Parts: sequence; structure tokens; C-alpha cells
Amino acid sequence: MSLDLKIKQLAKDYASEVVANRRHLHINPELSFQEFNTAKFVAKKLRDIGLHPQEGIANTGVVALIEGRNPQSKVIGLRADMDALPIFEQNEVSYKSQNEGVMHACGHDAHTSSLLGTAKILYQLREEFEGTVKLVFQPAEEKAPGGASIMIKEGVLENPAPNSMLGQHVAPNIPVGKIGFREGMYMASTDELYLTIKGKGGHGAMPDQLIDPVLIASHVIVSLQQIISRNKKPANPSVLSFGRFIADGVTNVIPNEVTIQGTFRCMDEEWREDGLKRMKKMAEGITEAMGGVCDFEVVKGYPFLKNHPELTRRVKSEATNYMGKENIIDLDLWMAGEDFAFYSQVVDSCFYRLGTRNEARGIISGVHTPTFDIDETALEIGPGLMSWLAIRELSQ
Ligand SMILES: [Zn+2]
Ligand SMILES: [Zn+2]
Repeated sequence: MSLDLKIKQLAKDYASEVVANRRHLHINPELSFQEFNTAKFVAKKLRDIGLHPQEGIANTGVVALIEGRNPQSKVIGLRADMDALPIFEQNEVSYKSQNEGVMHACGHDAHTSSLLGTAKILYQLREEFEGTVKLVFQPAEEKAPGGASIMIKEGVLENPAPNSMLGQHVAPNIPVGKIGFREGMYMASTDELYLTIKGKGGHGAMPDQLIDPVLIASHVIVSLQQIISRNKKPANPSVLSFGRFIADGVTNVIPNEVTIQGTFRCMDEEWREDGLKRMKKMAEGITEAMGGVCDFEVVKGYPFLKNHPELTRRVKSEATNYMGKENIIDLDLWMAGEDFAFYSQVVDSCFYRLGTRNEARGIISGVHTPTFDIDETALEIGPGLMSWLAIRELSQ
């Protein structure tokens, strides 16, 4: 039997177990950096397969190796994230979250169970490939500074060092059965902006005796948007959005200060630094000119995610061989962030998307919503495809 058929058969044989694991995780979601039971569950499942997982990396991370023939020849890293979100699940399903207020609404339960399925397939086939597969189950994709950055600090990309790294993410906008790829820049860096504009409050009828922070903050917002429109290279994707503007006065009372919070996203590390510097200078300059004081704070988030072009081309072409041309689609740029980006800055990486949408069954809700769900037939495709891609990439 050819390798792809062998993998497809194993993926089919293990599908019900992958679904059961996904449901167990879905019922028992844990927040970022608190994936203690999830990590125990993962480690146990890996031991059941016959592997020797290393636990406690980044506190709740789990790493295991599957050695093929000639294990030193090449190493590929396969990554799954394990954390859930602070969302009250609204799906009425048998596997509804029982940890109230916490929900796997980004599909990380599917990623974790899928990678466990991949581990089982690859262990079964370990005589059929050369090199080593490094399984990386990481905490806290959803929360700064990102589990990936801590895993890297604690050495996940060493001993042995992966030559390349793959990650998959469920996609509620892509029909189940289809897989999405994009070469080069794919997802955005994410920085949080926290501004406090201090003025001098008082009676709204006497603005001449005050320093109006509401007016200053309004100027600041408009001017910062002009940095995006005037200083950024037009071909460079970038977004600046403010979702919080608190001026806690009333109709006739101007407050002492205004707080603004926003997010700055882009796909160019040089522009990211330059843009942030310009924003700080602009906000402080305008505020000072108008008599106030601006406190401009940036909380750095994830870098932008770049899919290594040659690796992505190879992986996409192998995915086409496995899935059929009609099931491979091209992804658009996406201004959301993803901490897989940290790996992509260090090692040749490819992050692709696994279709999980099923309109006929009403499975259409976006990630991070209380009605998010997946078509679980993706849980046969995900492990099989990742096993195939890993083995093909190791044989390059
Ligand atoms: Zn998410
Ligand atoms: Zn996610």
C-alpha cells in the first residue's frame, strides 16, 4: 500500500479517538497558562502511544519526540496550542464546556487532539521515515507574551533543533475538506497602545480656564490615523484601531483626563518600530502643544507571522498530492495575531488552515464567539494531512 493510503487508513481508524479526545478537552477547557489538566491529559496520551513526553516546559507545555530511522538526519516540529478563552459557551451540545465561563472557542481543543492523532499515526509509521518529529504542545496562544515565546526561551527549538516547523489552525470560514495556504506574510504583529491624556477639568462653560483632555484626545486619534495613511508604505498592510476612549465627564463637566486604548498591527518589523515611535512622538507633541501631558505606553505583542516561501510551496504541493487540487485554496492576509509567529521568526515555518465550516449543519460561527464549533470530520483530515506533510518534508 502506498504511504498516503496507509496514512489515510490510520487517520480513519483513529478518527473516533481523536473526536473523543477533542470532546474531552472541549468539556474541560482551561485558560491560558493554566492548562494543567490539559497538559496531564496530553502527556498521558503520549505515554499510551509509547512516547516519553517531557513536561513542564513553559510550565504547562509538553514536548515529545518520535524517532524514525536515522533520527539525527532531520527534525521537523509540529505545534498545537492548548488554551481556551474566557467565553460562556452557548452551544447546546453533549460536549458543552463544563468549566463555566471558559470555552474552547478558537479550536485549540481540535489542534491538540489532532496532534495527538498525528503522533499516533507517525509512531505507527516510524520505520517508514528518516529523521525525528518533535511534537510541541504549547500553552497560552491567546495571552501575551504568548506561550510560544516562553517555550522558545526555555529551549523548545534546541536539542534537537527543528529544521522546519508546521502549525495548523481551524478555519470556520473554509468548508470542511479544504485546506488554506499562503506564502510569505500571513498574519499581523499585535501591539497594544495605552494612552492617558491629562489636562485640567472643570465647568464646561469655562473652557478658557481649563485644559480640555477630550479635545486633545480627539486630535490625537485623528493624527495617529494619519501616520498610517501618510508614513506607512502603501503596499504595507497595517491597521490602527482604538476600541476604548474614556472621558468620564458629563454634559457640563470636562474631566481631568482621558484614557484611550487601541491596537496597532502590521506585517513589517521595521515599520512596526518606526510606526510606534512616530505615534508616541505625535501623541506627546500634540498634547504638549495643547497644554496637557500624554502618557503613551505600548505593550508589545506577537511579531508578524511569515510563512517561509519555499517550505510553504513544498508543503502546499504535498497537500495537493494528498488532498487533491480542488481542496487546496489560497488564503488572504489576515490582520489577526498568532503566537506561532514567534517560531516563524526563528525557524522556517508554515502555518496553514484546516477547513471546519459546514453550512448545511449550521457550523458557521467565527472563532472567539460563544457559538463557535467545528465539523468534526476535520479531525480525520487534520491528523492524516499533518502526518503526510511531516513525513514528506523529512524526506526532502
Ligand atoms: Zn484565538
Ligand atoms: Zn487560535
